[in-house]
Amino acid sequence: MAHPHDYSSIQLLRYVEVLGKGFLALGLNTEADSLRVYHWALRQQHVGYAGELRVHWHPDLVLEWMKVLRLPPFANFYRALPMGTPECPGCHRNRMNVKVELSCGLVRKLRCRACTEVWVEEQPRSYSQGGPSDVH
Ligand SMILES: [Zn+2]
Repeated sequence: MAHPHDYSSIQLLRYVEVLGKGFLALGLNTEADSLRVYHWALRQQHVGYAGELRVHWHPDLVLEWMKVLRLPPFANFYRALPMGTPECPGCHRNRMNVKVELSCGLVRKLRCRACTEVWVEEQPRSYSQGGPSDVH
């Protein structure tokens, strides 16, 4: 059998659709639901080079991202500083020992190896995201 990336992604998508219908025809709804996630990932290009699903979530990661993005009820869980703050807010040493633990374009979670302080850095937001300051 050929390796998944020997197929074009369009062909793979077509096979996934045929398989999904095959599952449904046999009443295998759990398998069909699972394959639907893969189908979505293929269409959105959330797959790796070999066609493997690259969407990984677990409860701890949901909570951690809520804290890092400062979403309620975790809005104040971590101290938030502007992106590129020159020193650790805990020990005030320079950033030689600072490690990035989570990152997206706008926000990242940092940990200082010297004092274990954890904080988030945010890019200034150029548009309204409906935060408290927007409530009038
Ligand atoms: Zn520190």
